[in-house]
Amino acid sequence: MINFDYSKPSSLQAAINAVKKDATAKFIAGGTNLVDLMKRGVMTPEKLIDITSLPLKAIEQSGNVIRIGALCINSEVAENDLIKKQLPLLSQAFKAGASAQIRNMATVGGNMMQRTRCGYFYDTAMPCNKREPGTGCSALRGYNRMHAIFGASDNCIAVHPSDMCVALAALDASVVVTGTKGPRKILFTDFHRLPGNSPEKDNNLQRDELITAVEVPLNPALAQHSLYTKIRDRVSYAFALVSVAAALDMKGKTIQSARLAMGGVAHKPWRLTIAENFLKGKEATVGNFEQAASLAMQDAKGHGYNNFKLSLAPNTIVHTLKTLTGA
Ligand SMILES: Cc1cc2nc3c(=O)[nH]c(=O)nc-3n(C[C@H](O)[C@H](O)[C@H](O)COP(=O)(O)OP(=O)(O)OC[C@H]3O[C@@H](n4cnc5c(N)ncnc54)[C@H](O)[C@@H]3O)c2cc1C
Ligand code: SF4
Repeated sequence: MINFDYSKPSSLQAAINAVKKDATAKFIAGGTNLVDLMKRGVMTPEKLIDITSLPLKAIEQSGNVIRIGALCINSEVAENDLIKKQLPLLSQAFKAGASAQIRNMATVGGNMMQRTRCGYFYDTAMPCNKREPGTGCSALRGYNRMHAIFGASDNCIAVHPSDMCVALAALDASVVVTGTKGPRKILFTDFHRLPGNSPEKDNNLQRDELITAVEVPLNPALAQHSLYTKIRDRVSYAFALVSVAAALDMKGKTIQSARLAMGGVAHKPWRLTIAENFLKGKEATVGNFEQAASLAMQDAKGHGYNNFKLSLAPNTIVHTLKTLTGA
């Protein structure tokens, strides 16, 4: 473990200033990802700014929006009455993540900012463009079973590992951040990035910005028919091979509108807009679900060991929609 300084500011401004002042400083919340990365020498911050005293722990409804503070603990959000009733998809996604112990420490902001689980990223003896830009991507021709089938580049084929983020992408959420230039909102689907030529950047948060909350618009019709499916190697304590977040607004057997996103397949939560548009106005039939899944897979590309995802992903989409509608 490296040596580092530690401070625990009690105001947002003090936390932001502390990170702005020192290029080697990092926020720490639950520590469930950052501490692991520090122990392995993957990240080496010289100063940790503990943000857990900041007043960012509320879950509140205001009109038709639920605002979830960035320091809310994953297990508390999952079991919150407002979330279970109004955003069951999000509650399910939280419960599918990690283990009970980790969910009791992990925060909403930290979950968004967690790094990829690509084994080469964690192994400092191996080249990795995300850890050390310009060194190459070991996964491209290596053991890439967990890796991306959408939106990858020759520089990086890693996936974002979060479950929560897949549900939030499907639910049209926004991320609220604040920095030295003041607060701003980012659409959840624009928060994380594709790797392109700069895989070291996971998202569009600026260095001096802090995530303060997530805002989720309420849609009771979608909440009535929603489901998170996670396919993984073990039932607990394993990251998604493929996951699907689905919510349908149904009138009888007709789909008025659909929200679909996938996890475990790209560098960011992968929204399936072409499939959503196809399903609009269609009957809830297995045939239509299969066509939607096939449209969703149009640009998919395997890299060898992860080719099984090319059939696992559409099968998971169809399975989720069938389960949701009883088709
Ligand atoms: C064994 C294991 C299994 C796991 N399985 C899953 C899983 O199946 N699904 C899943 O979704 N997750 C899983 N996780 C990941 C876990 O959910 C994350 O580690 C956790 O959400 C990170 O939150 P944290 O508060 O501990 O973040 P920290 O470790 O404290 O921080 C992580 C990063 O976020 C930054 N950060 C934290 N808060 C903020 C903020 N408010 N604003 C800006 N930056 C911030 C920190 O600077 C740091 O870079 C697993 C983790 C482990 C260790
Ligand atoms: S996939 Fe990305 S994280 Fe993994 S080795 Fe390649 S560059 Fe590194």
